[in-house]
Amino acid sequence: MSQLQRIAIAPSQLQQEQILLTKEQQHYLERVLRLREGDRFIAINGKGKWWLAQLEGEKAQILESLTVETELPISITLMVALPKGNGFDDVVRCCTELGVAVIAPVVSDRTLLDPSPQKLQRWLRIAQEAAEQSERSFVPTILEPISFSASLATGTANYCYICEARGSYPHLTEAINQVSTTSEIIIATGPEGGWTDKELKYAIDAGFQPVSLGRRILRAVTAPIVALSVVAAQLESVAFNCAN
Ligand code: SAH
Repeated sequence: MSQLQRIAIAPSQLQQEQILLTKEQQHYLERVLRLREGDRFIAINGKGKWWLAQLEGEKAQILESLTVETELPISITLMVALPKGNGFDDVVRCCTELGVAVIAPVVSDRTLLDPSPQKLQRWLRIAQEAAEQSERSFVPTILEPISFSASLATGTANYCYICEARGSYPHLTEAINQVSTTSEIIIATGPEGGWTDKELKYAIDAGFQPVSLGRRILRAVTAPIVALSVVAAQLESVAFNCAN
């Protein structure tokens, strides 16, 4: 089972056997994922096509096309404000089972936990085990924890949602219905104390759409699992596949 990092690409970026990387993708691959020249990663186009690619500066060389059967058609990144205690273990386990591509743990204004370096190793092990149990083709990428504001600056998706427990926002199910062709979705969920008004404003300014997960207040651990279930159900339903 591969532990290679994945990035989503648009069809226009493919030229013969090469991928022309955008500035944001180069930044993401080199600065966020810390890949170097010659390192391999997986490029996905959101329509079920996956390729093994090799980084070559501003381009990537396609090495081979990959067969995937147990992965979602669109790459989902979950930005999850770290819950207290060992709650994040459950988030990693359940969201891996549900098909998440990237989990970005974030430290928000009301996050109570300061993550230790050993935690990342533990989460990677949990993700590996959960991916095996769910017979996934790939183990999700788990990024190092960074501040929520820094993570907003690294997002590259066309469709970004921030789950907000209070206020009247459209349900995530409705919002996802409007997704047409895309290869990547980012969903952010907050900590036990919720997002601050400032964080919500920054996220909206960065292109995130506030969404609801229903009328009840979910725990910080439950919210990302529910968000991913909603999106996965939609992406794998016949109606979505016909409409897109
Ligand atoms: N203590 C906060 C709630 C925090 S719940 C309050 O009373 O307002 C933790 C996180 O889960 C929230 O920041 C939000 O991202 C998500 N969440 C929980 N319930 C939700 C709901 N019904 N709709 C959208 N997001 C929700």
